Amino acid sequence: MKKMMIAGNWKMHNDNAQALQLANQIKIKTTAVKATEIVICPPYTALSVVNDVVKGSNVVLGAQNMFWEAQGAYTGEVSAAMLQSCGVQYVILGHSERRQYFGETDETVNKRLRAVLENGLKAIVCVGETLEEREAGRAREVIDSQVSGAFAGIEAAAFSSIVVAYEPVWAIGTGKTASPDQAQEIHAHIRGQIEKQYGHDVAMALRILYGGSVKPANARELLSRPDLDGALVGGACLKAETFVPIIQTAEELAG
Ligand code: PEP
Repeated sequence: MKKMMIAGNWKMHNDNAQALQLANQIKIKTTAVKATEIVICPPYTALSVVNDVVKGSNVVLGAQNMFWEAQGAYTGEVSAAMLQSCGVQYVILGHSERRQYFGETDETVNKRLRAVLENGLKAIVCVGETLEEREAGRAREVIDSQVSGAFAGIEAAAFSSIVVAYEPVWAIGTGKTASPDQAQEIHAHIRGQIEKQYGHDVAMALRILYGGSVKPANARELLSRPDLDGALVGGACLKAETFVPIIQTAEELAG
């Protein structure tokens, strides 16, 4: 039985003192959570501090990116082993902000994904169309090419370590959420594409998260849709008062 996942992408927020406080609040308020996997993804600088708080708890540590090489002259990058030494289990890959501001492409997402898998980490692979692409009727086409690019050469067995996040770029940090119908339609489409390539069992077991202005007020309606297996949360994950209710919603839906 797959668990719902609620993942928080802290982006470039929280120094170590703030990170410590937020991680502590989330941990304390989620001790009763059983049916939902909780992941928090602080900036690299706060990973160790947050790991000290959450290890052994219900809260799992994730990172926001990772380089594919094991070591070397790659100023500013971090490797799988470095992240593992901080207690990281999940790595977000291909977030639209990485694609938009840092030249991430489907090809580099694929390289990072291979390295994540080779090192025994798990990935949250982000895909999503821009507003322009949606308005041009190209949402599915864009997502198909992001999915096939990210998963090029990836074997079916690897999907137990992969989560997909559908994050329409026009809904990230804008307050505009995809309607539950819009989200469900794309999620079902992604699952269908995975099914075509990897078969029914892999597609059904795959968790597909929705991301884009998820908050306590819209979480229930979104997470009730059959192909939504959780959420990747940005803005609302920066306060325990808004992140924890989303987790509790997922938990209630599971029960
Ligand atoms: C994100 O960046 O992954 C995200 C979903 O952000 P927000 O919830 O703020 O739209």
